[in-house]
Amino acid sequence: MSEILYIVVPCYNEQEVLPETAARLGRKLRELQEKEWINERSRVLFVNDGSKDGTWNLIRQYCGESEMFGGVNLSRNRGHQNALLAGITVAAEHADMLVSMDADLQDDIEAIDKMILAYRQGNDVVYGVRSSRKTDSFLKRNTAQLFYRLMKFLGAEIVYNHADYRLLSKRAARALLSFDEVNLFLRGIVPLVGFKSTSVYYERAERFAGKSKYPLGKMLTFAMEGITSLSVKPIRMITMGGAFICLVSLFMLVKAIADYCRGDVVPGWTSMMVSIWVLGGLQLFAIGVIGEYIGKTYLETKGRPRFIIESVILDEGEQSL
Ligand code: UDP
Ligand code: MG
Repeated sequence: MSEILYIVVPCYNEQEVLPETAARLGRKLRELQEKEWINERSRVLFVNDGSKDGTWNLIRQYCGESEMFGGVNLSRNRGHQNALLAGITVAAEHADMLVSMDADLQDDIEAIDKMILAYRQGNDVVYGVRSSRKTDSFLKRNTAQLFYRLMKFLGAEIVYNHADYRLLSKRAARALLSFDEVNLFLRGIVPLVGFKSTSVYYERAERFAGKSKYPLGKMLTFAMEGITSLSVKPIRMITMGGAFICLVSLFMLVKAIADYCRGDVVPGWTSMMVSIWVLGGLQLFAIGVIGEYIGKTYLETKGRPRFIIESVILDEGEQSL
């Protein structure tokens, strides 16, 4: 018997692109069902992440038109990662495997076939990896490049050029859900889940319609989130830096005393000012990094829910929670 697939799609203000996305994913699901690769009870599950436009109304409409579609409505906007997690939570209850992807059709949906094949060969996690970044803007391509390098340097294990397009088996999804951190950076946690995994490659297209919901500011926050939630290396680097500076200051002390003895004390204004500024800057930066981790700890200790589901539409119609 073929297995149940859920395609989980987080959506935030995606009314421009959603009609096309629903049409294409619907066709894909049909095609896979006709090939008997997946079960009749497979679904496309849209997660509405507190959109301010007509996104939820569209999702409702699709759910009404065909039982191929399902919807999860979050009580407010919680960000891409949390919305995705909400979708995975619902999908893990019903599906044998799930594929997560963005709503904007940047990820080539034909790669789903390859993912299912890899799943059938016994992989629990199949990463969708883009083979090129030709369609990204110069800025996005280079900042992304820098980000992966930095992550690698800091010792966080993430798959190069893989975002959130991936297949998870039921047990991998359940394992992922058992990581209950509030500071969520899924692509860093999935490798920690383990199980047999592989990658499939695809060309990434441009956004089909609508605007990117990740402007530069949000991207930087996301990168910071990724680094600080996966690695404590920055803190260690600060400690090392501090130790090094202490060592240097010891030499400076000796030099200062020697200069004093030689009566050579008035010049040095420049070097003094420079070192005050540099050290001041370094200290502030170091405190900032430490503060970042303390802030994270604070948020984790509160253990607030990562998302709140307002209602779910699956086979039984809309259910408010
Ligand atoms: N998204 C979301 N909540 C948000 C921001 C984005 O669910 O607060 C969804 C968005 O609808 C899309 C996916 O996350 O399906 C990726 O966003 P986008 O395509 O804008 O990011 P980019 O591809 O530009 O990095
Ligand atoms: Mg996109």
